[in-house]
Amino acid sequence: MKNNLCYSTVAQLLPVSKSSHFQQSISIKANALLITPDPNEPISSQLEKTAINNLPKPSLLKNDLIQMYAGPSFNLVRAKNDNYCYGVRDPELAAVSVFMALSKQMDLYLELGLKRPKRPLSVVVNNPFVPDNAYFDAKHFEIHIGIGTGVSRGGLTKQIAFDLGVANHEFGHAIIFLQTGRADLPGKQGAAIHEGIADILGTLVMDYLNRIWHGKRIGKPFTAQDLKDDQRIIGKYALPPYGIRTQKTKKKAPADMVGEPHSDGMIIGSAIADLLVEIASQQGTDVEKQLRLFVKIMLLALALLPDWQITFADLLDTIIIADRRICAGKHRSIIEQCFATHGITSNTIKTISLIEWALGLTN
Ligand SMILES: [Zn+2]
Repeated sequence: MKNNLCYSTVAQLLPVSKSSHFQQSISIKANALLITPDPNEPISSQLEKTAINNLPKPSLLKNDLIQMYAGPSFNLVRAKNDNYCYGVRDPELAAVSVFMALSKQMDLYLELGLKRPKRPLSVVVNNPFVPDNAYFDAKHFEIHIGIGTGVSRGGLTKQIAFDLGVANHEFGHAIIFLQTGRADLPGKQGAAIHEGIADILGTLVMDYLNRIWHGKRIGKPFTAQDLKDDQRIIGKYALPPYGIRTQKTKKKAPADMVGEPHSDGMIIGSAIADLLVEIASQQGTDVEKQLRLFVKIMLLALALLPDWQITFADLLDTIIIADRRICAGKHRSIIEQCFATHGITSNTIKTISLIEWALGLTN
């Protein structure tokens, strides 16, 4: 297959943005990676034809929620010849993939309770000044995805933006910015929760949903058993074969805490991921529907976090409250169990009641 193969007809393969209110609705065909690619296969064989809808201008990869820039020029990504069928070495191809990934995430999460951003999220892919890394800039509401220096040199894969989990992870940080009262999570455990949430609500949930949607298209369903068996790898394309880290650990607080957010984030992240699997793999339920329910509970829990120095126990408490609000407390015992496995116990019912009272939620 030619790298930049284009299609003469626009095929609508995915649910598209319902959020745009632009008068002008434009559909443009593009080649994109709609799931994180397999690092063992050539990228060119993993491209899919897709359509990008609701662009305000036919020539720019932006809408009212997300705008895409590509390094090293830092220009807004433009169509060429009225489409976005770029080649695998062009940073614009990664930009199309990231645009599709973040558009899906933004639309879905807004539907499930994410507070609407006041301005579009600017996303830079292939930023040459960010080697082997990516970050969310809360002040400017920007995501920067860097370039890899190469796995053989001890770095990450050269085009790390192809790992859609990287962009989804940074969006997870944006979720905390949008959802929490202080637009941040203060304190050492707060920093760890930041990373844990970015890994689970950012990367893993979207990876599972993409595998569900992709599986439906190719007739290979992603099942509850697949979810249970998943190794919860973060950075599976960016750092093959083992990834950057896993959220399937037996780590416990306080014994395994080392004071580094990504490492401590594996304690709280594993607890949240255990809960995700418990909720989404319940017998007789639909995995996709349950994943959406899990996200809804988590988004409300984040919005309910108090403004003080946040602890793992505070998050546990607000998840319990969120579940009480959304599901009449149906998941309380599994929530407590998943967190207790990682050494996290509730601040006691009295504190939960106090938080509920302070938030005006008692009824
Ligand atoms: Zn992070």
